[in-house]
Parts: sequence; C-alpha cells; structure tokens
Amino acid sequence: MRILALVFLSSLCLLAAAAPKLRLGTDIRPTRYAADLTAVPAAATFSGIIDIDVTLAKPASLVWLNATDLTIQQATVNSQAAAVEPEGADFMALRLPAPLPAGPAKIHIVYQGKISTNSSAGIFQGEDAGTPYLFTQFESLDARRAFPCFDQPDFKTPWQLTLNIRQTDNAFSNTPQVSETAEPNGMKRVAFAETKPLPSYLVAFAIGPFDVVDAGKAGRNHVPVRIVTPRGKAAQATYAAQVTATIVDRLESYFGVPFPYEKLDEVAIPLVYGFGAMENAGLVTYGQTILLADPATDSISRQRGYASDAAHELAHQWFGDLVTTAWWDDIWLNEAFATWMSDRILAEWQPDWNTRLTDLQSKFGAMESDSLVTARQIRQPIESKDDVANAFDNITYEKGAAVIRMFEVWTGERQFRAGVNAYLKRYAFRSATAGDFLDSIATAGKPQLAAAFKTFLDQPGIPEVSVELKCTGQPRVALSQKRYLPLGSTGAQGAQWQVPVCVRSLDDLSAAECFLLDKPSAEFPLKNPGSCPAEIFANAGATGYYITSYQGGLLEKLLGEGSDLLNAAERVTLLHDLKALADSGDARESAALTAARTFANSPERQVAAEARGIVTGAGILVPASLRPNYAAFIRRTFGASAADLGWSAQPDDDDADTRLLRSSLVPFVAREGDDGALQAEARRLAIGWLDGRKGVDPDMLRAVLSTAAFSGGQDLFDRLLAELTKTQDRGQRRAIIAALAGFRDPKIVRQALALVLDPRLDVRETVGLIFSGLGSPQTQSLPFEFAKAHYDELLKRLPREGDLDAAASLPLVGKPFCDEPSRRAFVEFFQDRAGNFLGGPRNYAQVLEGIRLCEAQRAAQSEDVEQFFAQQP
Ligand SMILES: [Zn+2]
Repeated sequence: MRILALVFLSSLCLLAAAAPKLRLGTDIRPTRYAADLTAVPAAATFSGIIDIDVTLAKPASLVWLNATDLTIQQATVNSQAAAVEPEGADFMALRLPAPLPAGPAKIHIVYQGKISTNSSAGIFQGEDAGTPYLFTQFESLDARRAFPCFDQPDFKTPWQLTLNIRQTDNAFSNTPQVSETAEPNGMKRVAFAETKPLPSYLVAFAIGPFDVVDAGKAGRNHVPVRIVTPRGKAAQATYAAQVTATIVDRLESYFGVPFPYEKLDEVAIPLVYGFGAMENAGLVTYGQTILLADPATDSISRQRGYASDAAHELAHQWFGDLVTTAWWDDIWLNEAFATWMSDRILAEWQPDWNTRLTDLQSKFGAMESDSLVTARQIRQPIESKDDVANAFDNITYEKGAAVIRMFEVWTGERQFRAGVNAYLKRYAFRSATAGDFLDSIATAGKPQLAAAFKTFLDQPGIPEVSVELKCTGQPRVALSQKRYLPLGSTGAQGAQWQVPVCVRSLDDLSAAECFLLDKPSAEFPLKNPGSCPAEIFANAGATGYYITSYQGGLLEKLLGEGSDLLNAAERVTLLHDLKALADSGDARESAALTAARTFANSPERQVAAEARGIVTGAGILVPASLRPNYAAFIRRTFGASAADLGWSAQPDDDDADTRLLRSSLVPFVAREGDDGALQAEARRLAIGWLDGRKGVDPDMLRAVLSTAAFSGGQDLFDRLLAELTKTQDRGQRRAIIAALAGFRDPKIVRQALALVLDPRLDVRETVGLIFSGLGSPQTQSLPFEFAKAHYDELLKRLPREGDLDAAASLPLVGKPFCDEPSRRAFVEFFQDRAGNFLGGPRNYAQVLEGIRLCEAQRAAQSEDVEQFFAQQP
C-alpha cells in the first residue's frame, strides 16, 4: 500500500510538474544546439529549426523550455511527436506520450518567430539610409524570442548556427563562416563554425548588406579583428579600426589568458534601445554612434567613449563570456569587472586622458543611488523578472567597479591580478559564482579579503567613516563608521562594513597606511611614532568606497592650505565628501558652496566640474526671487574662464583637456549663469551650423545646439525639426534631438514631448524626448503631465518587448519634484501603474524616495542657501 502510494505519487509528479516560475530545473540540461534560421531583414517574421541535445538526470515525460512569442509548428523528442503546451510569456512544455529514460535525448523543433521593429530585443530590425538590417540582442532573457532554448547563463554549450539569407546580404555570427551555398529564389545558406561553450544570451548574429573593415590582428593567437558597418559607412570605422586590436592586446596581457575566441567582429547597430553595446562572444555589437563617426567631424569625447566602451565589452570576452555568472544575482561578476577592467586599461594605456579622475564621477553617481534605502545590493537576490531588469544599474556597474578597485589596492595590484588569472583559468568555459571568485582572490592575496568584500556585496549603502587624529602619546587615527544617510532618510545607521581605510600624512611623501576598520570604531597607531602629522587625508588616492567625515578641524585644514598637498583625485573626493555631508545635514550647504567657489577654477577640469556640481545641486533650493543672484554668482565665479574659452576651439593651441573643459564649462555659464552674450553666440553658431554644417567644433556641437535651444523660440525649434528629417548622420541626429528637448517655452516643450508619439520617427531614437523640459524649473512638470495625458498611447508606442521595458522609465518623469503636492500627484498616478512595467516598481520607489529626500533637504537647508545667495551682490 505504501509502496503503491509512493509509485502513484511519483508518476503523478512526472505528469503534472508545476511550471517553472523564473528558473528552469537542472534535471534536464542542454549539451549542444544546432539552429537553422531563415531571416530576411524587411520581413515581419523569421522561421527556424532547432536541434537540441540534452541529458536527463532522471526519467521525465515533460520537458520545460523557454520560448517567447514563438509559434511552434512541430516538436519531437527522440523522434516521437511531443504535444506543445505554452505556459505564460516565457515557458513552454513538451509533453511526451511515454516517459523518456535518464540519459541523452534529442529535441527537434520547427517554429516561427517575430522580428521586432520598435525595440532591440530578440531579433530586431534596424534601418540605415533606407536599407533594413537584422541584429540580435539576447541578454538577459531574450534568446527565447529567437530559439526555444534553456535560456539561463549556467547552461553553457556549443552552438552551431546556419542562416538562410538573401544572396545580396552578408551574415556574421560568433564564429567564422565555414560554408556558403546558393539556394533557389535569390537565397543562400551560410553555415558558421560550432562555438566554444556559450550561454544562450551570448549567441548573436547580424544580417544585411554590410561593409567590412579590416582592423588588423590581436593577441598572441593573431585573432583577426574587423569592424562591420552599414553599407557605405566603412570610412566611419577609422578610429575603431586603429585602436581595437591594441585594447585586446592590453586586456590579454593583463589576464594572462589568450583572447578566447577565433575572431572578433564589431558590428554597428543603427539604433538601439536599452543598451549601448553588447559583448556577444566574438561578435560585439554597438549602437552606431558609439562605434562609428565621420572622421571629419569626430570628437574627442566620442573617441574616448568608444575606447572605454570597447575596453568594457572586450574585457567581457574573459569576464562574462569565458567565465560566466552562474545566475543573474552575480551579474556583477560580469559587469562590475568589465567596468573596473576598462577603467584600469584606459588609465594605463592613455595616462594623459586622466581617466581615473573621470571614473570618480561614476563612483559618485553610484553613491547617490546607494544612499537611498531603496538601493539594490551589488549582489541582489533575483526572484522575479523585475529583479533581472533592475540588475543592470549603476550599483552593479559602478559601485561594483569601485569596490573591486578598493580591494585591489588594499590587496596589492600584483596579488590581485594573480587571483584574477587563477580564477579565469580555473573556470574557463564554465560558470562561476561570487564565492568562486573571492576564494581565488583570497588565495592569492589576503585571507581576510572574502569576509571584508562580502560586507560591500551583500548589503546596500555607503559607510561614512569618521576620522580623528590623536596626537597625545603615540600618534594614531581614531576611526568609526555608520551608514551614510541623507537628510530625511528613513534608513537605520547601524549597518557595519569591513572597510579598508587608507590614510596619508600630508607632511611628507610617505606612503599611505591602510587599516581594516572591521568594528564600529577603532584606533590605529601611525607608523612614524616620532611626530604627529598636522594634516592627514583619509581616502588616499581616492580609491575608497566611503564618505569621510573629518573631526577636530581637519576638514578646514584640508580645504585651506592642505589642498595644495592633495592630488587632483583627492581634491575631487574632498569636495564630494563635503557635498555629501551637506546633503546629510552634517555640514552646511553654504560651506559646500564656499568650497565650490574656492575650487571653481582649479587647473584640473574634473576638480572644477565637481565644484560646478555643488552649485547646480544647490540650485534646486534657490527660490525664483533669488534666481538672478544665483545666476550672478555663477557668472562671477565661473564667467571669466568661460569667456576666455568661448564657444570655439582654437585649432592650433587647444589641448584635449581645454576642449573638454570648454564643452562643459561654457554651456554651464551660458545656461545656469543666464549669460546673455554666451547664449546669443550659441544661437548664432547654431544657425550657422544648421545652414552649412560648419563653424562648430565637433566637441561643442551638442552644447551649442542645446544652449541655443535653451534661449531659443519657435523658429529655432521648427528649424531643428526640419533639419532632423534631412539629416542622415546618426551623431548629428542625436545632437539635434537633444536640442529639441532643451527649450524652456512650455508651448515648445509640449511639441517636443509630442514627438515621442510621432509615427514618422523611430521611437528608439526619440524615446529620450519623454524627458523634455525636465531640466528647467518652469517646465519640469510637463513630462509628468504628458505621461498622464498620453499614458495608453505611450504604452503602445514605447519599446517594451523583452526585458528592456521603456515604460519602466516613465516614473522618472517625477525626478525633479520636491514638494508635497507634486509628490501626492506622482503617487496617485504611478503607485498602481508602476507594477505594470518590467523593473517599474523599484524605479517608482526610488523616484518617490528621492522626492521625499529633496523635500527634507529643502526644509532643512533652504534658509542657509537663501542667505548665501542673498548676500551675493
Ligand atoms: Zn557590460
């Protein structure tokens, strides 16, 4: 009886296994795929045949797979017909008449799928100069739109792809093409070599009449590198063709493992939504404006942006592709590492670019997100598709990269690298977890590392480290920690970290001393017992991920004469600490503004940029009556440098830093400083450029057009729109669209918002116009009003397919709100709707928290800020 009951129960389990919620089981694993697709760029659908070799750990009569928007025409397992049972948006079951035994089996499926024309998820179309092309984007959960498959990062198998395409098209995929055969009806059959083991999200292809640019060979295996462009755009690959192989060489040399794939193609996608570039193994894709530019109008910022993105995507060929995160909760192993590695490669390769200073801006952006109680952890449990959609944020990328950098410095760069090399070798062509990585690093370096690192991985928030110098008896530093929280935060300060704090005496050039603060407070003796330093800086080299709160007059010394003894990265950090403490109520906003004035014209543009950031941040607290004083303060503080630089580059005597300073400082003074002369000159230059596409330095184009719009009227708006319909160049189109979003007349802002719904424009290009008017106090509520009034139309129009749901960005229209009535209206509209967008609930919660914090800051700091600006003549 008992036995019978058991048998009965287990057979019931076989027949009625519940549908997976998010993750497939591991009893049936794929071991190899062969996919044969027929796809034509102008078509609405494609057809496919897929053969999947699987292994069953135990008998089963139901096979679960991922499939989305696929129509299954026929399915067999080991040649027996299977009934297909779709389940929700992501899964389907193949039900067999009799159980399959444990061991290998073969699945064969014939199907059809959709080609997207308004998103960039799955297989999607992009158009260049009227010619359609096809591309793919599968990370995270969209390979299932192209193939029925086991769509999880831990299932790494070889893939063999065959594409049936028009004879006039070319096709590219992860591996080299191995054969091409003519077919009837103007078609041909292109087969690609079998891949090394890959997860489904890294499979990729591109189809269309592309041009191909030879970019040399890279690495010790002489891997061929090519840039794949839309037809006629080969010349735009000039810069990418010059630098890409060098970047691969440098990565390979750091990793100590050769480039893992047989070839490297880099493909330009005319328009993307939701991502910029993608690290598909051997076939990296980029939004076209990242990869390509007309050499005649290419800019420094575009080239540096490409170098940084390429270093990131190419670092992924090792971190992500060769060794893949086992599940999306460890996506930081891919993304934080690629970001950290890109920063490292650029700093070594181009020291003159001073990228370590620019990296700090990214770290501070992550700190702003991380100060919220709604912040994610770097290693956040993944329980829903919303969690997958939210995982690709600046906590994963930038906080992750900053934390890795902090522990790299603490461990020692050489030992850390040995750990990285060991990890890549040990897990090559497999998947790994955070634990696997930390074990590898700790083995090579310090045994305490894993526990300390986890305090940053597995909890949100930023440590605020209080620092006091004690000179009675043995000189020592007293450190204590709490969670940094801005004014009005509902968070608790009790969280604790194990923070490597590196302290540097400014009295001499002795090396920094690093202490691991692993309790709420501790005192550490300084190395040189003979003398107590007058000044110390407690984030030496600016590599720590914490806010420093100096006690006992140290801050005043550092802001005063001590600032000369700090390097530029430390000065940027000092300003950021002060701003953060003003936001938390531990310093006055006026103190931060005073420091901003002191550092406003620092020789390093990144220090000056931090100073401008403090002023802009205070701007939201300035009432309309004091706006003229605020603008006058900006002109007086920053105006002389802006006037010196002017809008136009001097071709002979301008270095890159001057050009980049110009592109940020001059529009800042023109707009925030309401500088009429600079505004008028921007309008004059903009009209000249629109007339003849000349007279504006490429690095200044966006700033010129957007500043002209800021003070421009209907004529200029109409002119920009007319030029948009005529302009083919993607970079120029981006600059024009950014300008369309920058007007201040509410009537014009409404026209810009309406362009999001205009069917003549590709929404993947215009979606950013949903935030038109957000930057100006007079018009900042218009995007919210627009989203409310056109909500249903927007949901139909926005790119929403796949896990990059543009509607999830709709709550961001509430970002500038800073008062209770606006907050109530925001909540009333979005609280029940945010759940309808993939990743929407967290975005909504974060915007709402930001509004509350702004209200609290306004209540606490307005009087001080008003006094500061009222006293400005
Ligand atoms: Zn990445």
